[in-house]
Amino acid sequence: MSIRIVSVSGGVQSAVQADRVLQRYGPKGTTLWFADTTVEDEDLYRFLDDLERRWGKRILRRRDGRTPLQVSEEMGFIPTHRKAPCTFALKVDLFVADLKRCPKPVTVYLGMAWWERHRMDTPKSRYEAVPGVTVEYPALWQPMDRRPALDVVRSWGIEPPRAYSLGFSHNNCGGACVRAGQATWAHLLQVFPDRYRHHEDQEQHLRTRLGKNVAILRDRSGGTTRPLTLRTLRHRLQRRTVEEQDGPDWGGCGCLPAPDTDVPPASEDPIASAFGAAPRGDAEAGT
Ligand code: SF4
Repeated sequence: MSIRIVSVSGGVQSAVQADRVLQRYGPKGTTLWFADTTVEDEDLYRFLDDLERRWGKRILRRRDGRTPLQVSEEMGFIPTHRKAPCTFALKVDLFVADLKRCPKPVTVYLGMAWWERHRMDTPKSRYEAVPGVTVEYPALWQPMDRRPALDVVRSWGIEPPRAYSLGFSHNNCGGACVRAGQATWAHLLQVFPDRYRHHEDQEQHLRTRLGKNVAILRDRSGGTTRPLTLRTLRHRLQRRTVEEQDGPDWGGCGCLPAPDTDVPPASEDPIASAFGAAPRGDAEAGT
């Protein structure tokens, strides 16, 4: 008999897909698996606790121990939307290591939504490269449940993670994803200024250590592309010059297992609104 491992990200979408697996097979023989990046929003843990009570089952909480920026520091560069080693070091690699260790055969269930078929091939081939592993997407099981994941979670009597009502498009890394765009960071500054300043200080530390003009973000204004530090972005925002930014660039990570896409817009945030768009639906983000 195949062992079942269900990836749980801390967002609503993966919770709904995990629930489908448990409804079909029950908790026996099913492992619920979560990767803690150590920079998660506090309310994510409350959500995991609520899910454990609903499912009557503990979620295996794995932790590398480093933060996303500590991973980059050890590798000697600053992460960007193009290159974010934290995705692998803090999530994918931990998951693959556990897959290699556990008895086979194993079926892995990933929490992408049914409309994200275009993003399903890469994780499937990545995990199925481990002998004895098969990947499934419960969102594609018939009949499909097309209700918004937020509504489904509320129907369980569980309050979704506060990140959504605060205007974030996913519940990864406390809203401070290194693959996110300027609008997401601007929103973080608005909602969690201390969290923003912490990442700003970390970025400055990395720049000093590397001795290079590098940054997480890019400034594409004026027809050229230059590094844009979180400090510079904060100064611009605080001078109310967001209209100088280069457009609606929400960005996000593509971490395992999937971003959450059926979230309400952040249009009530005055800074975010200045970008002229709600958070990008797919967040290209994650775990
Ligand atoms: S959510 Fe973003 S910052 Fe966090 S591990 Fe994934 S890519 Fe890195």
